[in-house]
Amino acid sequence: MKKKLEHQFILKLKSSLFNLIYTGQTLFRYEDFLFEMLKSIRELSGASDVTLYGRDEWKQEFFVECSTNASHDLLNLPKLVSFQEINMLMQEANKAQSRFNSRVPSMNEHGDMLFLMNNGFVEGCVILQYTQGKPSNLTDSMLNVLADECSKALVSVKGITLLKTEKKRFKKLFHVTKKFHASMQMDLLLSEIIVTLKEMYPSFTYFLLLSHDYESDIELPIKDLDYNDENIAAMQAYVTGVIQFEDEIADKRSILYAPLMGNQGVYGVLQVIAADTLLFPAKEVEFIKYLANTAGSALENAQLYQQSQQLISELQMINETSHRLNSDLRLTETIKFMSEQIIRSFQAEEVGFILFSQEKEIVSILKGSTDFFYKEEAIPYIEFADNKIGKDKEAIFIGDLHVPSSTDLEDFKSIMAVPMDQTGELKGLALVLHHIPYYFSFDSFKLLQSLIHHSTLAFKNSLLREELEKLVVTDHLTKLYSRSYLDDKVDVSMSEDQEGTFILIDIDNFKSINDRYGHQVGDTIIIQLADIISKNIRGSDIGSRWGGEEMAVYLPNVPSETGMRIANRLVKKVNNMTDPAVTISCGVAYWNNEYDDNYTSLFKRADEGLYQAKNTGKNKVVFKHHTNHH
Ligand code: GH3
Ligand code: MG
Ligand code: MG
Repeated sequence: MKKKLEHQFILKLKSSLFNLIYTGQTLFRYEDFLFEMLKSIRELSGASDVTLYGRDEWKQEFFVECSTNASHDLLNLPKLVSFQEINMLMQEANKAQSRFNSRVPSMNEHGDMLFLMNNGFVEGCVILQYTQGKPSNLTDSMLNVLADECSKALVSVKGITLLKTEKKRFKKLFHVTKKFHASMQMDLLLSEIIVTLKEMYPSFTYFLLLSHDYESDIELPIKDLDYNDENIAAMQAYVTGVIQFEDEIADKRSILYAPLMGNQGVYGVLQVIAADTLLFPAKEVEFIKYLANTAGSALENAQLYQQSQQLISELQMINETSHRLNSDLRLTETIKFMSEQIIRSFQAEEVGFILFSQEKEIVSILKGSTDFFYKEEAIPYIEFADNKIGKDKEAIFIGDLHVPSSTDLEDFKSIMAVPMDQTGELKGLALVLHHIPYYFSFDSFKLLQSLIHHSTLAFKNSLLREELEKLVVTDHLTKLYSRSYLDDKVDVSMSEDQEGTFILIDIDNFKSINDRYGHQVGDTIIIQLADIISKNIRGSDIGSRWGGEEMAVYLPNVPSETGMRIANRLVKKVNNMTDPAVTISCGVAYWNNEYDDNYTSLFKRADEGLYQAKNTGKNKVVFKHHTNHH
């Protein structure tokens, strides 16, 4: 009879649990299932109330998860029971070889406590409360069966629920990963990590401990990861790349340190502070670890990307610079271009290019350097750089320079100096200065070095070309003598001859000729003028192209009257014979042995004459006397 009753009870129980799980609906809520299960148990057992304690992995305790009594407060049961107490009660039951204990923690009334097991662990406890003593229809074996069947049902329902949350989680992780790898901006990545975690575990506090100075435009919970005894666990995570825990039992909080790890290194540590928690459950740790690793490799990508962007822009600058340098620039333009480039790239205040003669006695500041270098105050800096480079044989990078003889006004603290003497032929250096201490970054210094390295050859070419031009005697377009040749001849004549006349010639309104007919036609006019000059002077005279559309004629041993006649003849012939017709203006100067004179002042007088001719109607000759005359 009893056996039959029990059998019926088991069948009823199984079918009701089965119905609860397989409702045919795809979506069933875990909470609903629990409530229905407890209601079935109450019905079958005759208990007054049935309550389930669920397991809280975080806090290491059991809590009232569900009850047939809607008002948990009236249950007359403890709200929380520790792991230890439950384990103790279960062990008592085990000794009696049963799955329940009639001793219910801190409860005065009658009741039974069923242990719902999963893999040897207590997954939950069902408490049956009886108001009028234990109902007669509940035998020990029925309670054991009840515990067994409910365990199975709970385990499978939890399994299904877990699968659903896991699926959600991995969807989230996948979503985040996609976002991470789509962004190359560190800021966005870091804030995405925090946002995701806050969504998953809203009650926790998060910090990013980053290993190097990180400046962010957006508000991020970033802390410096520096070595001190307060963050040993964080350092440990950073160094070993393994998750670390710091459980502060006293404060009832748990801290997790997850390394942000990429393929090539650890980029920082994620600190998760879980207040009111004793332990991080293994599953949660697993998830945070995934997230941290994903973040680590995303950070790595972003960092590599930023580095490569930086490299690309540096290469572009070097490339552009060497391209410009190799494209036929005059030395002055070359230096000017380099100075501008350096000022722009490094926000430098002063840039100087200094050349030393072979014996290091003569220092020349190359034109195109900033003005500071032509002042006296620059000398201590140049000497300092030259001496130091000479001694150490390497470039200088100093952020707290003190040059004793420098004045307060021009007190440069930051200095970069790079030598330009790859082959030993060219002895020079580039000097870059700024007032503010430690102004230049080491990256700037490296870039400057490679910039100078790449341009030294171009410097040398420019220098060589200018040297060569001095050796060239005739001008290519006009076949007149070059200016440097004329310069040499005047110098020789003024030291050896008795007298001489110098004529400076400039085409009138030549700009408008160029504008009207184009440069090509302009050039043919220059050639026509040169031919007229050549035909109207003697072999011992020197006709030269002074530069552009200006010519100069030097007549050694020729008195000023003859010189004036020649100049006037040129003015007339040019007016008549050029096509399209142009006119010229001339300034004439004369020297002889009687007066103290030199080339510079001879030229200056001719130039003044020319200026006067231009200002008094053009197409004429103006003679300028020596001031000591009469
Ligand atoms: P001004 O009467 O005051 O001399 O007027 P300008 O227009 O001639 O003025 P200026 O002498 O200052 O200008 C010279 C111009 O000649 C500038 C430049 O365009 C042109 N020029 C200089 N060298 C050459 C050259 O080699 N070929 C050609 N086609 N034009 C040149
Ligand atoms: Mg001119
Ligand atoms: Mg002119």
